[in-house]
Amino acid sequence: MVDVLVVTAAEGNTPSRNTLEVLGAARRLADPTGGAVTTAVLGAPVEGLFSALVAGGADEVLWVEHPPLADAAPEAAVAALTHVVPHVGAAVVLLADDSTAREVAPRLAYRLQAGLVTEVTAVRAEGDRVVFARPAYGGRCAAELVATRFPVVGTVKLRSLEPVSERSGRPGAERRLAVSVEPSLIQTTVIERVTDEVRGVKLENARVVVSGGRGLKGPEPFRQLQELAQMLRGAVGATRAATDAGWVPVSWQVGQTGKTVSPDLYIAVGISGAIQHLAGMSGAKTIVAINSDPDAPIFKAAHLGVVADFKAVLPPFTAKVKALIES
Ligand SMILES: Cc1cc2nc3c(=O)[nH]c(=O)nc-3n(C[C@H](O)[C@H](O)[C@H](O)COP(=O)(O)OP(=O)(O)OC[C@H]3O[C@@H](n4cnc5c(N)ncnc54)[C@H](O)[C@@H]3O)c2cc1C
Repeated sequence: MVDVLVVTAAEGNTPSRNTLEVLGAARRLADPTGGAVTTAVLGAPVEGLFSALVAGGADEVLWVEHPPLADAAPEAAVAALTHVVPHVGAAVVLLADDSTAREVAPRLAYRLQAGLVTEVTAVRAEGDRVVFARPAYGGRCAAELVATRFPVVGTVKLRSLEPVSERSGRPGAERRLAVSVEPSLIQTTVIERVTDEVRGVKLENARVVVSGGRGLKGPEPFRQLQELAQMLRGAVGATRAATDAGWVPVSWQVGQTGKTVSPDLYIAVGISGAIQHLAGMSGAKTIVAINSDPDAPIFKAAHLGVVADFKAVLPPFTAKVKALIES
């Protein structure tokens, strides 16, 4: 029996896609072993969220209340979870592999003297062992890590696992748990929250992503990518070279240290195909690459390649798409 604890934050009355994916991973472990899935929500109860989490796969929702948790200081989350994990008695603790989890998960594992597996792409129970898959060598191969000692902490790589289909009508339990966190442990002060304004489709949810790299040679051509993405009801992404150059916001970065996307169509324009970029987009169903260098590594990952200067290809391609949409 593998009991799983899913950790999430109280943000609005519907769970994020990321939380639903982690719940999906948790059910894959709990269901075959007869285990239970508890979701610890760091924050006060939010109306509507309980039933949405139960529909998403939770058997029980634990509201973990402590004022500093509202500020999302990682130290507060670590201190609170250090109490919560033994309280729940879960064998496996799962978080979405986002920037918060990257701060919280290693510290939590250390406090619990537990193992840590990051970027989990698949998970299964095998007898009294839990097997995690994760990318190794920058995504060149998959490694399997076997946990034989519990608890173990895992962060689930976003867009790697599907949420479970909605389990509406199932009963669930909810409890409140007050924790006390020693104030001196909290070293982080949240000064300001900046919300990244997203117009149109969110990059990580987009079915079509049009991405640009250093080959675009400046911010201006990204307007052409935006025009094309808008027509295809998609979003624009970028390589780290483009975000580091300040051509586009950092939130557009796709890759190992950026966002992971798994669209139906990924159009890579002026992108060489570095392993760190591929790590964030190789799950796309169809990859189209436009690059002037026939030896660019992106062509090994692409299903369709165009060896050309993007300036010669993009305008007629965009015009053709426009004509098709209007016809
Ligand atoms: C720890 C670490 C983490 C990283 N994380 C990420 C990450 O998350 N995401 C990421 O993207 N990178 C990441 N990188 C950087 C990565 O290694 C590459 O440097 C980066 O992806 C290269 O970006 P690029 O393809 O835009 O640029 P380049 O490699 O310079 O490629 C530009 C391409 O454009 C082509 N080109 C030039 N002119 C034209 C033209 N006119 N028309 C068509 N094609 C043209 C060239 O042939 C070339 O292939 C990371 C690196 C490290 C070390």
